[in-house]
Amino acid sequence: MSAPPAASASGAQFYGAVHAVDASHRLIGAHYRESPHQDERPDARDISLLVIHAISLPPGEFGRPADAAAAHRDTLIHDPANIRADSAPAAEAPSTMSTDDPANIGAARAHNAETNRTSYIDDLFLGQLDPAAHPYFETLRGLRVSAHLCIFRDGTVTQYVPFHRRAWHAGVSQFDGRERCNDYSIGIELEGCDEQPFSDAQYRALAAVTQALLQRYPAITPPRITGHSDIAPHRKTDPGPHFDWPRFRQSLAPAAG
Ligand SMILES: [Zn+2]
Repeated sequence: MSAPPAASASGAQFYGAVHAVDASHRLIGAHYRESPHQDERPDARDISLLVIHAISLPPGEFGRPADAAAAHRDTLIHDPANIRADSAPAAEAPSTMSTDDPANIGAARAHNAETNRTSYIDDLFLGQLDPAAHPYFETLRGLRVSAHLCIFRDGTVTQYVPFHRRAWHAGVSQFDGRERCNDYSIGIELEGCDEQPFSDAQYRALAAVTQALLQRYPAITPPRITGHSDIAPHRKTDPGPHFDWPRFRQSLAPAAG
């Protein structure tokens, strides 16, 4: 019996959701939490570069301590007055939730489990990072940055800015002689750092997401996929020495026949 030739090209094999970009320039299958750190591109039709980044907050740490996050959530959920505040950061949070209906408290818990990333990266991109939460965060006070997407260690994807809008990820930068890469690029953050390998789940998700972007924005060709360290070489090191470019590029190649 021969294996179906299309199996390895199926999105479902790469990742839990088959990714595609919808009419609103949002990635189907991703969580969506809109960042205030965005504006219009000079030319919304010019989306012609993909920039890969890595970020971890605090540096070298992933996620947020699970117990602390759970305790934090439970505290908020058990105090009905706080349910609304807890839900507010999620763009899709119900705005008219009754706080005295136990069914809604359950819904709030389920909602948080579903959509609330327990990551300081979310907080940073949403403009909600608490400078007091960690000594390092004081150095980020007032910083207004974002990315279109972040791929977390478990392969889940969150989108912060629709692709036709300009996210603020590249800073002073230049690709192939052209400056201000934010104007014409899509920025993807991987939760990671210079000292540790990325996860298999991240490579799978990145491949599926990138394939969807290449299909939707054909001006982004494989040679126009680059790293932050390549477009801002004297300022930035990400995605860093552990990002496996050959593995990533191979994952974009058409399945061998
Ligand atoms: Zn970067």
